[in-house]
Amino acid sequence: MVAAVEKTHLTGLTPAELVSFAEQLGEPAYRGRQIFAALHQRRLQSFAEMTDLPKELRVTLETISAPSTLTIESRYLSADGTRRYLMKTYDNLPAETVFIPEERRDTICFSSQSGCPLQCSFCLTAQLGLLRSLTAGEIVEQIIIALNDAYGVGETPPRGTNLVGMGAGEPFLAFESLIKALRIMAEPKGLHIVPNRVTVSTAGIVPRIRELATISYRPHLAVSLGAPTDEQRDVLMPINKKWPLAELLAACKDFERSLKRGERFTFEYVMLDGVNDSDEHARQLANLLNRHDLRVKVNLIPHNPAEPLPYQPSSRRRVESFKSILESKGIPAFVRRPRGQDIFAACGQLAARREANPAHA
Ligand code: SF4
Repeated sequence: MVAAVEKTHLTGLTPAELVSFAEQLGEPAYRGRQIFAALHQRRLQSFAEMTDLPKELRVTLETISAPSTLTIESRYLSADGTRRYLMKTYDNLPAETVFIPEERRDTICFSSQSGCPLQCSFCLTAQLGLLRSLTAGEIVEQIIIALNDAYGVGETPPRGTNLVGMGAGEPFLAFESLIKALRIMAEPKGLHIVPNRVTVSTAGIVPRIRELATISYRPHLAVSLGAPTDEQRDVLMPINKKWPLAELLAACKDFERSLKRGERFTFEYVMLDGVNDSDEHARQLANLLNRHDLRVKVNLIPHNPAEPLPYQPSSRRRVESFKSILESKGIPAFVRRPRGQDIFAACGQLAARREANPAHA
């Protein structure tokens, strides 16, 4: 696999960019579209497989560009069918992706950064620090690799594919890559996964929430709250010191006002046993959201324990009590079932862990 820095990673180019790339090589425009279809519709990851391209062109492409720059280092299979891929970028950094099969659809959880600069105290990824943001091509390629592994190269997935930007990293700190990747993945002559099939989660990068409110072709948004007061959120999610709850929720309100039919906006609340899960916390959270006139759905996510994090998940009884308090105050609440916990694939567990049952292909 080619991995040189100076080579153009073709998976990160839009159809228009690939057309001009082909034209710069003295090729007709349709070659660019052909390469796009080969990469995204047929999900080919080497030029050797693109036998509809002339041999000389394939040789030229090989010397100046790369169809693929991620390699699978390990593959882990969970008892519930979830697959976690630990991949390596061309510069040897970890990138993790999780494939979650479900009855009616599959969900692929992709990473937007290698590591993460935010220091959420309940998250294993935080311990890596930021290695770097991923490129649009690296985001798209995670999906191609997961689909090819689950169904075979280029095979049509039998169910729909949903994407969630909830893997390693803060997607809004890789905003340009993310938006470009979404555009590439939405192409009808490519993966054809439209933004309406994508949910992106942020820890609260306020300027980007405001920017997203102005973009019309966009994914669904989830905002991770983690605590109902600034005092506690400063500790659990230190990004709060930069953009405290009042600022974050004002931006959320503006985002909510911009919602169009069919778009979803949710809050997430990780539940940590004995830390942020009391009835009082539930009342504080409900009052906070009501004060900002945000009757947005809250997903309650029992924490996924992972050494050396000092937290345990809230008990089922606690989660139910928390949920009913929110509901009694007019806030719709749901409990999210964790998947792939046994292979460190669940939320907040991605940290390039290598120790759990690799299932090499
Ligand atoms: S929870 Fe998300 S934003 Fe926070 S440290 Fe982990 S990966 Fe980064």
